[in-house]
Amino acid sequence: MIHIILFGPPGSGKGTQAEIMSNKFGFIHLSTGMIFRDHMKRKTNLGKLVSYYINQGILVPDVITTNMLNIEIKKHCKAKGIIYDGYPRTKNQIFSLEKILTEFCLGKINIIFYFFIQKDLIINRLFKRRITDYRDDDTDIITVQRRIKEYDKETSMIWNHHKCKHNLIKLNASLSVEKISIFIEKKIMNLL
Ligand code: AMP
Repeated sequence: MIHIILFGPPGSGKGTQAEIMSNKFGFIHLSTGMIFRDHMKRKTNLGKLVSYYINQGILVPDVITTNMLNIEIKKHCKAKGIIYDGYPRTKNQIFSLEKILTEFCLGKINIIFYFFIQKDLIINRLFKRRITDYRDDDTDIITVQRRIKEYDKETSMIWNHHKCKHNLIKLNASLSVEKISIFIEKKIMNLL
């Protein structure tokens, strides 16, 4: 089973590429943000619990996020591969992912795509996205800025010094959707 991580700041295009690649290769697309938003919409206990953090633009605590994601992974033990979009975002989340993959003999993290992009471009993209995606956390500039700050503070360095660092592939996330997907597709083909 193949495990592909899409890593990068909010608005860098991870979700778009995750969707393209999951359709192309038949992989499962796991977006922690999407799963949380779905719970919020359905007003489940988990949804009520995480709405405070999501509306503030700060990370949901690790224990909640890792438990939720582990449940999702267990649902897809027979999948060809999983694309993780927006997870892991902390070192604890990396450890938790590695632990469950080992425990259930599901393989290892094969590749990490690092979506690199300038900050002013991200803010523009997030502001445009609020019109199409109706996301509350994209509408308010303060929340958008907090999410970017949270990324810089909590997430941007998590792969430094990690043993998977050599599996990290940096890509220019300001290129077109098509160019990026061709790039990613080629790298995934090499894994198959
Ligand atoms: P996203 O859709 O990836 O931009 O995530 C939206 C929001 O969900 C984030 O601002 C966080 O509040 C929360 N979230 C999503 N993924 C994670 C994660 N891996 N760890 C903690 N919080 C997360």
